[in-house]
Amino acid sequence: MSLVDLTAAQLVYELQSGRVTSVEVTGAFLDRIKRLDGAVGAFLRYDAAKALEQAERVDARRKKREPLGPLAGLPVAVKDILCQQGELTTCASRMLENFRAPYDATVIARLKAADAVLIGRTNMDEFAMGGSTENSAFQPTGNPWNLECAPGGSSGGAAAAIAASMAPLSIGTDTGGSIRQPAGLCGITGLKPTYGRVSRYGLVAFASSLDQIGPLAWTAEDAALLLGAIAGHDELDSTSVNKPTIDYATNVHEPLEGLRIGLVREHFAEGLDGEVETAVREAVRVYQSLGAKVEEVSLPHSKYSVATYYVVAPCEASSNLARFDGAHYGHRCKENGLADELEAKRKQLIASGRKDDADKVDTPLVAMYRRSRSEGFGPEVKRRIMLGAYALSAKYYDAYYLKALKVRRLIREDYDLALADVDLIVGPVTASPAFKLGEKTDDPLAMYLVDLYTVGANLAGIPAISIPCGLSSSGLPIGLQLQARPFDEDRLLRAANMYQQATDWHKARPKL
Ligand code: GLN
Repeated sequence: MSLVDLTAAQLVYELQSGRVTSVEVTGAFLDRIKRLDGAVGAFLRYDAAKALEQAERVDARRKKREPLGPLAGLPVAVKDILCQQGELTTCASRMLENFRAPYDATVIARLKAADAVLIGRTNMDEFAMGGSTENSAFQPTGNPWNLECAPGGSSGGAAAAIAASMAPLSIGTDTGGSIRQPAGLCGITGLKPTYGRVSRYGLVAFASSLDQIGPLAWTAEDAALLLGAIAGHDELDSTSVNKPTIDYATNVHEPLEGLRIGLVREHFAEGLDGEVETAVREAVRVYQSLGAKVEEVSLPHSKYSVATYYVVAPCEASSNLARFDGAHYGHRCKENGLADELEAKRKQLIASGRKDDADKVDTPLVAMYRRSRSEGFGPEVKRRIMLGAYALSAKYYDAYYLKALKVRRLIREDYDLALADVDLIVGPVTASPAFKLGEKTDDPLAMYLVDLYTVGANLAGIPAISIPCGLSSSGLPIGLQLQARPFDEDRLLRAANMYQQATDWHKARPKL
C-alpha cells in the first residue's frame, strides 16, 4: 500500500511512530498531484517547494521531540476562499484574480497552529455559487470516479482532491450544501458544522447567515480529527458561539447506544433516483442491525426550502459582493481614455438631439464601477446579485425577503420538532449520482434543484454530514446524509463512524 492510500488517522499514526516523515508523506501526495491533476483539475494552485519546506520544519521539530499539533506533518488542501497571508485567494473569480490576502483566516491560523502542511488551494464555483464547480472562472474539475462527470460543488476541488488521493484532508465551505454535495458525489465524507461552530473570520462571505467551514476526508474519524483542529470560539467572528468543543477525534470511536433515527417522509417522494433510494434504505437497515430504532418524521415545509434558500442566499450575496467595485476591493477595469470616451458619447448624443440620453451617460466613477464589475464577475454571480438586489428593493422586500425569513423560521421549527423525537435524521444527499459536466450549465433552475436535500440544514443552522453508502450501476458514488441537533457534531461523527465500522463504502477508491 502506498502512503496516499492511507487515511489521515493512519498517516498520523505512521508519522508519530517515526516510520515515515512528513517530507515523505507530503512528497507522495505532491507526486500524485503532479501526475493526475492535469486531468482532474482539483487544484487552482500548489507550490511543491513551499509544501516541502513546511514538512521539513515539522520533521525537524519532531526529531528534536518538540511538542507538535494534532495535524503535524499532514497535508491539508484548502478551498480558495479562505484568506491565507501572502497567498492568492481568488474565490475562482476574475474579480479576485490578483488578490493576495494580507492576513490569515482563523481556520488557516488554526491549521498552522496544528502543524498541518498547507499543500494547495482548491477549485470551486465562483464565490461558492454553484453545485458543480463549473462556475469557476479558471478551469473545470472532473469527478475522479468518471472525469466526464462533475464532482459537485461548490467545494468540488476540495472533494476531488481527496477522492483522487491528492490530499488526505481538505477544507470546504457549505452555504447550501457545498461540502456535503461534492462529498456525496465523490464518495467521501464531508461535514457541515453547526452555524457558529467554526469561525468564519477570513472566509470571503457569500451568504453570511448560512456559510460554514468544514472538513472533507475519507472517513468520519478523519473528519473528526480535522474538525477538532478548526472548531471553537473566536473573538474575531461575532457569530462564532462560545461553547466548549468536544474531543471529536477521541469520541468518534465510541459507538452510540439506543440511537433513534428519523426518516423524512418528504425525502422519499418523486424525483429520487431508484438506486439512491435503495442505497439509503439499505444504510438504514445497517443502522437497525446496529441497534437503532427507526421512525418516520415529517418536515412539512421542506418543499419550500430551495425557494427560500434562493431568496435568502442571493439577498445576502448581493449585499456582501457590493464591496467588489474596483475601488474598495477587486478587479479594476482599464481607465485610460475612459473619461474621454464617455464625454465623446455624451457630445454625440447631444448632437443628435438626444439630450435626455446624454444626461444618463455614466460619470467616469460610475463607469469604472460598472465595467469593473461586468468584467470581474461571471454569469452566475451576476445572476445572484441581480436576484438579490431585486428581492431587497423597496417594493419587493416584504414579498420576497421578509417572506423568505418567515418560511426559514418555519423550516427551523420543523427540524426542532422532528429532532425532539429522534437523534438523527437520515436520508439522501442528492436525488441522483454525479451528472455529466455541461449537463446543467444552461439550466440554472435544474442546478438549483440539486440542493433539495442539503439547504434545509443551512437554513436551520444545524450540523449535517455526508458519508458514502453505495455505488450506482455505472460505478458512481451514492451519499447518505445524517442531520442532527445544533452542536451535535459529536453524535454525527460517532454515528458515521459506526456505519463505517460496519461497511466498506468509504474504502472504495476510483481507478484513475
Ligand atoms: N449549490 C448552492 C448554491 O449554488 C450551494 C452553494 C454553497 O453551499 N456554497 O448556492
